Amino acid sequence: MPKITKVTVHAGHNKNGKIACGASDYIDESKEARIICKKVIRLLKRNGVKAYNCTVNNGTSQSDVLKKICRKCNARDRQLDISIHFNAADHSRADGKTKGVEALLYKNDGIKAEIAKRMCEQISRIGFTNRGIKVRTDLSVLKNTTKPAILIEVCFVDDQDDAKLYKANKDAVAKAIAKAILNAA
Ligand SMILES: [Zn+2]
Repeated sequence: MPKITKVTVHAGHNKNGKIACGASDYIDESKEARIICKKVIRLLKRNGVKAYNCTVNNGTSQSDVLKKICRKCNARDRQLDISIHFNAADHSRADGKTKGVEALLYKNDGIKAEIAKRMCEQISRIGFTNRGIKVRTDLSVLKNTTKPAILIEVCFVDDQDDAKLYKANKDAVAKAIAKAILNAA
């Protein structure tokens, strides 16, 4: 696998409180995705990777946010685009089981599949259930970016166990994502 030396990272959706700002329950997707995005970029830079933050905070609609994110990513010289999200399904109480992490890819192949697999594995080591890779051909950031792209759904905002585990492990989550990109053990 080629060494990753330049990437873009962005937090999904608009900024919290604006239109198209993502899922919110025990934790808030837009807010937490921005926290993790910044932490990941800091870790990558510390390891010599050129990491560009392509987060969009001024979208006028869901489609405008997506369009602007893709435009920002495609304007950069990079090998990989990383999109940070949090999942939502149905509100669930604490039952001692986490719903977990998953990575979405346009196609399950190549460097993005290798890195996505490692991302899920690294995050699952913190205690999140590994839901693995899912192929999604309908998502703008996967479809309309011109380099391999990974959309990581860290955990579920509406699962009480996921939210609790996440809140206690924000640094570890960021580290897990950075490690997967750096191919570190
Ligand atoms: Zn999302």
